Amino acid sequence: MKTSVIGYPRIGKNRELKFASEKYFKSEISENDLQLVAAELRKDSLLKQKEAGINFISSNDFSFYDNVLDAAFLFNIIPERYSSLDLTDLGKYFAAARGYQGDKGNVKALAMKKWFNTNYHYLVPEIDDTTEIKLAGNKPVDEYLEAKALGVETKTAIVGPFTLLKLAKYTGEKKSADFSTQLADEYLKLIEKLAAAGAEWIEFDEPSLVKDLTADDITLFKSVYDIVLNGKGSVKALLQTYFGDIRDIYSEVIKLSFDAIGLDFIEGRKTADLVKEFGFPADKLLFAGLVNGKNIWRNNYAKTIDALKNLKSTVGDNVVLSTSCSLLHVPYTLASETKLSQDYLEHFSFAEEKLGELRELAQLSDYADASNVASTDSFQNNQKLFHNRINSVDGSVQNRVAAIKDSDYTRLPEFHEREKIQKERLGLPLFPTTTIGSFPQTQDVRQNRQKLKKGLISVDEYTEFNKKKIAECIALQEEIDLDVIVHGEYERNDMVEYFGEHLAGYVFTEKAWVQSYGTRCVKPPIIWGDVSRKEAITVEWSKFAKSCTDKPVKGMLTGPVTILNWSFPREDISIKESTLQIALAIRDEVLDLEANGIDIIQIDEAALREKLPLRRSDWYSEYLDWAIPAFRLVHSGVKPETQIHTHMCYSEFTDIIPAIDAMDADVITFEASRSDLQILDSLKENNFKTEVGPGVYDIHSPRVPSVDEIVTALTKMRDRIEDTKLWVNPDCGLKTRGETETKASLINLVEAAKIIRNQG
Ligand code: GLN
Ligand code: ZN
Repeated sequence: MKTSVIGYPRIGKNRELKFASEKYFKSEISENDLQLVAAELRKDSLLKQKEAGINFISSNDFSFYDNVLDAAFLFNIIPERYSSLDLTDLGKYFAAARGYQGDKGNVKALAMKKWFNTNYHYLVPEIDDTTEIKLAGNKPVDEYLEAKALGVETKTAIVGPFTLLKLAKYTGEKKSADFSTQLADEYLKLIEKLAAAGAEWIEFDEPSLVKDLTADDITLFKSVYDIVLNGKGSVKALLQTYFGDIRDIYSEVIKLSFDAIGLDFIEGRKTADLVKEFGFPADKLLFAGLVNGKNIWRNNYAKTIDALKNLKSTVGDNVVLSTSCSLLHVPYTLASETKLSQDYLEHFSFAEEKLGELRELAQLSDYADASNVASTDSFQNNQKLFHNRINSVDGSVQNRVAAIKDSDYTRLPEFHEREKIQKERLGLPLFPTTTIGSFPQTQDVRQNRQKLKKGLISVDEYTEFNKKKIAECIALQEEIDLDVIVHGEYERNDMVEYFGEHLAGYVFTEKAWVQSYGTRCVKPPIIWGDVSRKEAITVEWSKFAKSCTDKPVKGMLTGPVTILNWSFPREDISIKESTLQIALAIRDEVLDLEANGIDIIQIDEAALREKLPLRRSDWYSEYLDWAIPAFRLVHSGVKPETQIHTHMCYSEFTDIIPAIDAMDADVITFEASRSDLQILDSLKENNFKTEVGPGVYDIHSPRVPSVDEIVTALTKMRDRIEDTKLWVNPDCGLKTRGETETKASLINLVEAAKIIRNQG
């Protein structure tokens, strides 16, 4: 059986691309230097996959920032504000990705959104009525030829036209259908060039097919591919889907003249049924996504071989074993992990190890006779893993979850009563100003943490340093005149890993980075077993911060849904069960903070929206029905006068506003600056009770917002939100920003709030 990989990580095993890009941004290296680093990384991953014997390897899966942005630039979907900048092509590309502020101009970045149900983010292409779609680049061809020169024949992976049209934002009158013919024609030009270069396969990534599709969507898809498939000539086309099943269009796509169709058997709950019910044409290859591209556990060979056997009985031999999605979402290799014992590591599989799994599984499934399979070493070694997992069960945790009562999910008294009590107690001005929690993580802050980790300094030295930083951070906030003070989160590497480190049931990696957006990577911890709180986690820091100021200090925690969503979850118990375990642990921390005099506690649920099932029909039953109560469980035990904040990254929750209100927090802050203010209309329509701080400027970009800009944003917000409910804050934590821009931005923010207050 042949094997296929949809895409490979590209940031580099040691995040080489991140560091090189950041140097390039600071003009410390040239564009050419950056290109060399990128070429080296591409070479490594191609050769790695070739050595592992993978048959279908992708090129063009590399990106300097994001593959959707690559596709937009390739087809000239470039807003004027970037194309008109006097910069190189790569400079314009980065301007669209990150915004640009310098001697050549001052522009904001494109909007950024979560990539389906992952923690990766894509840039939202912007199409206006004058956008002239045309093939304007050569990246896929260049990278195809580059691979070929290295001796690797590749399929060219590219975001497909349907997904590109679906993800784009249309700022004029025209809509997706008005651009579909033109776009299809330009894909054909690309295919022509690929064919001339000798390419045999092109892979169209069409994850948008796993969402609920309307009749118009299906028409759009067919109209685009009608052109592409008719005109593509001898180049073979793989329609690659992932992150779910394609139940709304399966019976139609199998009739189209694709040469292969890639289906996700891991997240696609109905994929196997669809194949059984509608069959699969004998003239196509079926790329079966059976090796999980998103999680880090070893594949269970017995199950996969079984699934392959079933598939072969309907499809015959035309099955190619594939990853379920791009391996972009898992770390590079276990070989970088030097601290975890083999007892743990043997259960994990990162990108490189998944290549080995693909090969072993393909070999095993070629054995005709099941008893031959069972007697192989690879099969037996694999099966042992599913019988022994040390330290994963804690009876007391399971009992505590079982004992949760319905009333534990409700905070009393109800919101409006609490709101009055809190306003009196806190005595904040109208439009209170605050930040989301973290302050710039400068070199010295990271070094301090690293020194402690390496045992180069004592815990006392570490603590003293952080206390000094906290005191300085608070002095700065007082100088800027912010109303609600934070301690700055200097002790945290990452908002999830930090909590994971203080919870039993977690294990950690050293180098297991995955890309979140652009040069930002995260290192998700792994939920290994039952989770509980080992000791108070944040209390000492918050107490110290409180001792530095008379203003209210906001305690800062991460919520259970986010902790779970940004960890690699277990596969042996349900996600709901794991989340409730975490919720109880964080609840203990909330009550400890309150007992230690912290009056405001923020429980971040940055990732709550992200795991919303892609299909609307699954939203409540599969997710919100347990996720929202899990959040309430965390704070339901506090006194009425304690103010609970929450924060969510991204404002894309227009359609779940009642669920967000049902989190029953007192205040919610969220991103609003990088998308339009449409969410505010929905808040109003839904009579949103929770007080809100829609971020007034974009922290994902180094640009300093002007006072005027913030006043304008606030004025728009006041049209839709009552003055007594409106907070003023940036749209996310400041840890990735520099100190200078942070101070300048916050000064402007506070000044804008004061201007608005004076307007009455
Ligand atoms: N409190 C966190 C911070 O400020 C929130 C981060 C986030 O929402 N991603 O860093
Ligand atoms: Zn955020």
